[in-house]
Amino acid sequence: MLAENLKAVRKEIGAALERAGRGPEKVCLVAVTKTVDAERIGEAAALGLKDFGENRLQEALPKLKLFPRLRWHFIGHLQTNKAGEALTGFELIHSLDRFRLARRLQHQAERFDTEARCLVQVNISGEKSKHGLAAGELPDFLEAVSDLSRVRVEGLMTMAPWSDDPEEARPVFRRLKELQKACSRPGLALKQLSMGMSGDYIVAVEEGATMVRVGSSLFGPRLPQRG
Ligand SMILES: *Cc1c(COP(=O)(O)O)cnc(C)c1O
Repeated sequence: MLAENLKAVRKEIGAALERAGRGPEKVCLVAVTKTVDAERIGEAAALGLKDFGENRLQEALPKLKLFPRLRWHFIGHLQTNKAGEALTGFELIHSLDRFRLARRLQHQAERFDTEARCLVQVNISGEKSKHGLAAGELPDFLEAVSDLSRVRVEGLMTMAPWSDDPEEARPVFRRLKELQKACSRPGLALKQLSMGMSGDYIVAVEEGATMVRVGSSLFGPRLPQRG
């Protein structure tokens, strides 16, 4: 089933790239494995998936230990005091959303003599339940973070409001793309746009996503996470 799902998702991504005239571009498929056990992560890796996403550090750390060769993406809300742990295990943090966290990542990156590769999470819809900067705060935030030598901002991330209708996500994704254009400048290449989940990744690719974060369309429906 996983193999079939993966084939279908890849096909949809390819078709969306074509429709958008982005034919030769590639989209990074991040397989979201929250609540998915190690055996199925192994299956996914055997099918050629290399990028995996987790939203909770405690759940993720044992999986990272088991599969150190996969590229792990941190996609959930990151507590400031967990910055070091996230930094050492994850390739890319999609959820940089406040300066305090950026400063902490800088500090930890110095300590481990590494770099913190991040995307800035933007809360475009303005929903209270979602993390992320308001779009209007983004320019000043990027300016402030550019002073942190070891925090490398590689792009933007957003989550669209939950809806049955993927078309409702389109304006949100379009806005993130506009922000990418408006905020990129020499020395700050916001290359990555992480947008789109199972319900709306096709629309996201049409609107310019370079990374999609897909869980249930690959692994099937999941039970709610506890805690
Ligand atoms: C769970 C999650 C996803 C994937 O959700 P699906 O609807 O299962 O594809 C994507 N992004 C974030 C931030 C998530 O927490």
